[in-house]
Amino acid sequence: MSGRMPIYMDYGATTPVDPRVVQCMLPWLAEDFGNAASGGHVYGWRAQEAVETARAQVAALVGAEAADIVWTSGATESNNLAIKGTAQLEPRPRGHIVTLRTEHKAVLDCVHALEAQGFESTLLEVRADGLLDLDRLRDALREDTILVSVMMVNNEIGVVQDIAAIGAVCRERGITLHVDAAQASGKLPIDLRSLPVDLMSLTAHKTYGPKGIGALFVRRRPRVRLVPQMHGGGQERGLRSGTLPTHQCVGMGEAFRIAQEEMDSECARIAILQRRLLQGLAGIGGVSVNGDLKHRVPHNLNVCFDGLGGQALAPELKAVAASSGSACSSASRTPSHVLKALGCSDEQAHASLRLTLGRFTTESEIDDTVRELQACVARLRELAHD
Ligand SMILES: *Cc1c(COP(=O)(O)O)cnc(C)c1O
Repeated sequence: MSGRMPIYMDYGATTPVDPRVVQCMLPWLAEDFGNAASGGHVYGWRAQEAVETARAQVAALVGAEAADIVWTSGATESNNLAIKGTAQLEPRPRGHIVTLRTEHKAVLDCVHALEAQGFESTLLEVRADGLLDLDRLRDALREDTILVSVMMVNNEIGVVQDIAAIGAVCRERGITLHVDAAQASGKLPIDLRSLPVDLMSLTAHKTYGPKGIGALFVRRRPRVRLVPQMHGGGQERGLRSGTLPTHQCVGMGEAFRIAQEEMDSECARIAILQRRLLQGLAGIGGVSVNGDLKHRVPHNLNVCFDGLGGQALAPELKAVAASSGSACSSASRTPSHVLKALGCSDEQAHASLRLTLGRFTTESEIDDTVRELQACVARLRELAHD
């Protein structure tokens, strides 16, 4: 890559930090460096005030109360705290956990770790469009089911699960519901006042905040209990010990404040770009969309091209930074577990591409992406033909 960087079409992997967020964070690194837990002097008070303002900003975006928000290092940690923390409430390592085959590894591997300790699990199949069938969920619930974990927006295919309906099923049975909302914040309205969700994982770096900071919503009314996974100074209601990174908290707060203010206009703009991209791709021909198109955030298009003869598409794309399957699985050659769960063959998974758009995507970037893809797909199809 001689100087020129490829077009960024991978907002689902991470987003740039919004320049307004960067500005907001800077003073908290050098001048206002105090420890939010230092209760005896002004350095601590200032940091504590900043952290609490940020906590309220994070809470506001999802309709939560500030006191329900626990700071973590990101959605991976939030998922671990929610899932292991719920399971470990059981006096003995017994109980049943229900989740989806299309969840993020940070959920699936937590469940697998608990299985090794004696818990049981059901990984629900999804429909070919990526959505969960509620009857399938109802059928899977057992007397000893202690937790259901379902993501709100899928990181690979962008489909939106009906969390309100899933939550209603869980409430009926008195089962704790955890929702991984790492890909949902700032992309669709979330109102935890009415949404029957007990635990929700959030992260800053998919919503124009810094990496290394996230939060777990832990409902206090009705009260949801958890076993802490990090022991120490007893910060965060004892649920997550460790000195709070003031600059990171402030950054996530500002990122979520901006998201709340600009979500409507931003989503409308990105929806137009998504339509333009879809039209352009349709012009290439032999393309299908992975996952339901209607129940989807506008930021995501995951598409599969016919006739590539088993060749992988993503590594051939030089001028566009996109993802095949998910960022984690694209390093290895194993096809994405999400696309496999939709019923894609290995060949179709290799011929699939996740294009994710965001705040800084422009119309001309969409057009350039389509042109690049057209050339690349034509080349691979010709090779497959020989
Ligand atoms: C990115 C992501 C995670 C991991 O979040 P980190 O903050 O990077 O730990 C978890 N779940 C989903 C759905 C994600 O997209």
